[in-house]
Amino acid sequence: MTHVKLDHLSKRFGPVVAVDDLGLVVEPGEMMALLGPSGCGKTTTLRMIAGLIEPTSGDVLFDGRSMLAVPTERRGAVMVFQKHLLFPTMTVAGNVGFGLRMQRVPKAEIDRRVAEMLELVRLPGVGNRRAHELSGGQQQRIALARALIVRPRVLLLDEPLANLDANLRIEMRELIRTVRMETGITSIFVTHDQEEAVMLADRVALMFSGTLQQFGRPAEFYERPRSVEIARFFRNPNTIDGVRSGSRVTTAAGEFVIDPARAELAEGPVRITIRPEDIEIVGPANGAVNRVPATVLSNIYMGTRRELIVSLAGAEWHLQAPVDAAFGEGETVTLGFAPEKIWLLKPDADGRETGVQ
Ligand code: ATP
Repeated sequence: MTHVKLDHLSKRFGPVVAVDDLGLVVEPGEMMALLGPSGCGKTTTLRMIAGLIEPTSGDVLFDGRSMLAVPTERRGAVMVFQKHLLFPTMTVAGNVGFGLRMQRVPKAEIDRRVAEMLELVRLPGVGNRRAHELSGGQQQRIALARALIVRPRVLLLDEPLANLDANLRIEMRELIRTVRMETGITSIFVTHDQEEAVMLADRVALMFSGTLQQFGRPAEFYERPRSVEIARFFRNPNTIDGVRSGSRVTTAAGEFVIDPARAELAEGPVRITIRPEDIEIVGPANGAVNRVPATVLSNIYMGTRRELIVSLAGAEWHLQAPVDAAFGEGETVTLGFAPEKIWLLKPDADGRETGVQ
């Protein structure tokens, strides 16, 4: 299993800084997601790891050894592209065994390993079919088998679940999980979808505009986002400014009691946030702490729950409600915030958010 380190990695395309001083470590056997909006530098990073793009500065190290002078085919990193790029008229077995034929591996061994790989991607018995006869989802599995057959040190996946319908996404996600468990391979994948990142990855590297914003376990992005932008990217638009004094924060919507164990910020100006799924709809405040009235702006039916958009001290907040919650537009609801669910963000001097730690 291979340890991957990106060390002050940067890439410029003329005036465009695609990747800016990126530093992170992927532990042996770990699966890491490179997550971020379109154009943030994810694919450029993946391609630098694969050796398809040369960095402007910085280094890519596998097990402590610089890969900069090592050509793509010798790095032991294989990339599975979003478009599967199979040879359409070649048989499936021919496609899967392609890398081994290039290495002049004896035919009997190729046949054995192809069968093994088709078993691994849950497509035994399709070896003699032509690649173009398979469905998109099946072709994606074959592309994965073709990458894995050469026993790479590092597996690089470009948007592995994109272009798949909902059922196939679940199937492919489970397959990637199984493959990882069975091969233990260090894997890095690119996605712009935060759900895909948290479903598959052990750790997530979130990038905005070429810069690493936060790197950690999936839950940390929900529980401890380091900036308002990060909270928003993880579908939490709820924030309100306040001033912290001990375990209390005074805001335009009233006073909140917070859990000091979760408050990493010093006294003074802060910004409170709480995730939509952590907000409760409670009975009238009657002087109880952390109960705030809000006006319903819309109540959207989502099948298994409802999404309420409310106005709280002039800002739009989102929360979830049971499917039978019948609150109408303009109605007042009382929101309840458990102190241990409140997280504090730091608004910086020029109004941009810089994060907590
Ligand atoms: P997407 O999700 O849309 O693929 P991304 O996060 O993978 O986006 P990159 O493809 O890495 O982003 O691009 C990062 C930035 O670098 C973008 O501004 C892009 O326009 C620019 N860029 C990428 N490749 C080149 C290139 N070959 N020449 C010039 N600019 C490039």
